Amino acid sequence: MSLQPETIKTLVKVAAEQVIASAPELTTLDQAIGDGDHGTNMKRGFEAVLGKLDAISAQPLDEALKMIGKTLVMTVGGASGPLYGSFFLAAGEALSHDRHLPDDLADVFGSGVNAVSARGRSQAGEKTMLDVLVPVLETLRTAAGQPDLIAQVRTTAAEAVERTAPMQATKGRASFLGPRSVGHVDPGARSSCVLVQAVCASLEGQQ
Ligand code: ADP
Ligand code: MG
Repeated sequence: MSLQPETIKTLVKVAAEQVIASAPELTTLDQAIGDGDHGTNMKRGFEAVLGKLDAISAQPLDEALKMIGKTLVMTVGGASGPLYGSFFLAAGEALSHDRHLPDDLADVFGSGVNAVSARGRSQAGEKTMLDVLVPVLETLRTAAGQPDLIAQVRTTAAEAVERTAPMQATKGRASFLGPRSVGHVDPGARSSCVLVQAVCASLEGQQ
């Protein structure tokens, strides 16, 4: 599968628009256990991505992913900017090195997840975006090639977000709250879910 420029354009546009639309919710979540800027951070980053949509979708997918990553690093700010930036840069880098979609999808996504983990010195279970990204990676691995892969990924992401609520944060700003971080969904987990769901919806629409 090599993605046509129009397909890349639709995917990126849908994902960016969904993140922008979810900014108020992300802000509310970050007000509860952080500093209330996750929505504005993500909105700024993905508005910048939308601003470069033509240039991004003119590239092959690996370069498009790297361009998204660089844009997010430069514009999102906060902890999440470098983390999401690293995800897209590493996924693009992996795709440049003799990986092919859809066979290597889990591998490519996994490179992004590893980059987040390395940069954040974090792992699943610490109430961060990794608590969505890691389960999604697991599903990409275990359900690879199955006809309902996209549906399984959607379910995984939605359930994984909810599982962050009872967790106590041990990374990021929310960790300063200690036990008081329990009972709230993690904002970065939610934004990861929004991104994953948007890509799934876009792919479903193109099937
Ligand atoms: P900041 O915390 O600097 O205000 P944001 O509000 O934009 O930045 O992003 C917060 C989100 O970033 C958290 O909800 C969490 O999901 C994610 N995050 C923070 N630190 C880490 C980390 N070390 N590893 C993975 N994700 C992290
Ligand atoms: Mg914040």
